[in-house]
Amino acid sequence: MNHAETEYLRNLGRKHISPVSTRVTDLVIKRAKGARFWTADGSEYIDFVSGVASNGLGHAHDSMVKAIKEQAENLIHFGLNYGYYESVVKLSEKLAQIAPGNLDTVFFSNSGGEAIDGALKMARAVTGRPGIIAFDGSFHGRTLGATSVTGSSSKYRTSYEPLLGEVYHVTYPYSALLKENAPKDMTRYSLSQLESLFELRISPERVAAILIEPVMGEGGYYPAPNEFLQGLRKIADQYGILLIFDEVQTGFGRTGKMFASEHSGVTPDILVLAKALSGGMPLGAIVASRELHEKWPTGAHGSTYGGNPVSCAAALASIGVIESENLVQRSKQLGEKIVQRLKNNLQKYRDIKDIRGVGMMIGIEFHPSVASRIVPAIKEKCLARHLLIMNCGVNGQTIRLMLPLNIKEEDVEEGLTILESAIGELI
Ligand code: PLP
Repeated sequence: MNHAETEYLRNLGRKHISPVSTRVTDLVIKRAKGARFWTADGSEYIDFVSGVASNGLGHAHDSMVKAIKEQAENLIHFGLNYGYYESVVKLSEKLAQIAPGNLDTVFFSNSGGEAIDGALKMARAVTGRPGIIAFDGSFHGRTLGATSVTGSSSKYRTSYEPLLGEVYHVTYPYSALLKENAPKDMTRYSLSQLESLFELRISPERVAAILIEPVMGEGGYYPAPNEFLQGLRKIADQYGILLIFDEVQTGFGRTGKMFASEHSGVTPDILVLAKALSGGMPLGAIVASRELHEKWPTGAHGSTYGGNPVSCAAALASIGVIESENLVQRSKQLGEKIVQRLKNNLQKYRDIKDIRGVGMMIGIEFHPSVASRIVPAIKEKCLARHLLIMNCGVNGQTIRLMLPLNIKEEDVEEGLTILESAIGELI
């Protein structure tokens, strides 16, 4: 595509696509493969964003493309209300096999936010209770239910109030999320906040669900301590509250385990999945025990496209590759190697507060005093050198790396070298 054609497309996009969602670059993308993509003018880039952790196998993995093509030739859409088809049945069986504990039954939706809404509806319907507890700093999506439980920025909530009622937020157990006087023992602090909530605001017998990201994503890449998740499990059991894990971003090997819940050994009552579930095709899932699903009255929830045949075929192919190529193990090992390298090369800079990773969920956090100046400049410099990166955090303080789990060593090397030199030049 020549320059004039590219400009024409860009201008059409500017004119007709809603400006409501943030557009980080105005690149016109033509093609993508693995951890690389090409713009319409033929420039090549490295992608450390992976569709915000959706393309777990990178772009256009051969196995996924083959599965998508074959499925599309046979059945594109039918509607799960009207029967069964192979890809959805086999995917639900596969999820039942790999999900923790007794979670063996699946409701499919089209996205993470939609699956979160469904999980909240399920929790209210099966417990007959109204209350939902979520955490400050958490992000769960853009639908109204998901917006109501999101606490990572007031900008996501402003203009939409009143949001869902009976939603309460508690401090996520990570000290950086408290501006001052953070206690040493965040696990105890956050659990005691929960107890205070029960005393002062809502009786635990009125709470349907506690919803948490086991590793906070958008809010800053902070892992919840295992003891905290174990404490939540105890409290939930004590009061008959359902524990929901939002593993939309952490699922499918991203944290060095198939699911982040495995780090703490805690099995949630409801596991919410999307993003890397289907490696870039629209799909979300609510996974819970058969017993719990059977308490959700038939007809109380549904979806036209949920469990779409092509998305399910893509998901099956993607999970197949994750398993056959041991990518969960690779995520752990490569993630540790990358974190070690970043520490060796970047820890000397005083503006950097922390470098951490759980598997391939890797964050470089900057001190609050410099983050708003330095992080956007680093992103810009990297983009100018053809590396796409993204940040996260309540104050945009963390550069998050979301490399494909199967990324080639040379792409890691080239991308990290660009990133490290951009940081070194700007700090
Ligand atoms: N939950 C988490 C943890 C997420 O990171 C996201 C998206 O970034 C969502 C839910 C919402 O997913 P979707 O954008 O597919 O609705």
